[in-house]
Amino acid sequence: MATVGFIGLGVMGLPMAEHLAAAGHEVRGYSRTPQTRRRAADRGVVEAESVAEAVRGADTVITMLPDSPDVREVALGDGGVLSHIGPDATFIDMSTIAPSVSREISAVFGERGVDVLDAPVSGGQSGAEEGTLSIMVGGSAAVLEAQRPLLEAMGRTIVHMGEAGAGQVVKAANQIAVAAHLQALAEVIVFLEGHGIDATTGLTAIAGGLGGSTVIDRKSASAVAGSFDPGFRIELHDKDLAIVAESAREQRLSLPLTATVAQLMRALVARGDGGLDHSALVGLARTLNGEGR
Ligand code: NAD
Repeated sequence: MATVGFIGLGVMGLPMAEHLAAAGHEVRGYSRTPQTRRRAADRGVVEAESVAEAVRGADTVITMLPDSPDVREVALGDGGVLSHIGPDATFIDMSTIAPSVSREISAVFGERGVDVLDAPVSGGQSGAEEGTLSIMVGGSAAVLEAQRPLLEAMGRTIVHMGEAGAGQVVKAANQIAVAAHLQALAEVIVFLEGHGIDATTGLTAIAGGLGGSTVIDRKSASAVAGSFDPGFRIELHDKDLAIVAESAREQRLSLPLTATVAQLMRALVARGDGGLDHSALVGLARTLNGEGR
């Protein structure tokens, strides 16, 4: 059994840390707010009062933080993970961040001889709570094999994608697919409603054919009802599509559909709906077509 430092105990991090503790590992959890740390302590995680306390003596340190600047600060900043991690320990960042930042962190830790994996996840809050996440891993295949038992406590599908940053590239690609499917659902709903056809009935037929999708299966009932409680917040998907845009530019790639959906996500953030679930694209499509949300 391993000693694990876990930093970032939010929607995703808390259930992930809880699964590690339930598997018998000693998990020392740190998150910015004391309430979050106490909630974790009620669920089998040993409360750490600082990054240092979570990291010192840990075999593996995991971060599950919102965005690239958060991970860079916690990993490389003053008093961060790098200041306290042992040379034989492994650092795994499971947040969704820019591949370029994952590569930078891997290089800096590598200079000190510390192994790093980028291991972003897909599967959402329910996947984290059920321990069935899909985990896309960049970094050394041998390091992944050594860490696989830990990752298996949190996920069901664990796939090595390539060198440092490769996990983040695949996660960004995943976010392209999810955004496009959500916008398709939004336009299907307003198209059906515009023709006076019951959207739920229409979607039942569509779900059984080539136009079906996991997004339709999981999101259509709440979206048709106009209920957009997160789930996955628009502001996080907006962040992910900014990562896609930056990474596409690095490789000189043109992604016109993704750019359009990214602008619609941004419009939701701009009008103050960044805290809603990303299926709020349906609400925006209704507004664009003259209906209330
Ligand atoms: P969240 O905002 O619920 O949780 C992040 C946690 O990190 C919060 O508790 C926050 O207080 C803490 N935190 C932020 N900065 C910190 C710092 N400097 N030091 C310590 N703690 C800090 O976010 P989430 O939904 O759990 O998402 C985390 C990551 O997982 C994001 O990169 C997101 O894109 C990705 N993700 C989320 C989902 C989802 O459905 N929510 C699905 C897949 C991937």
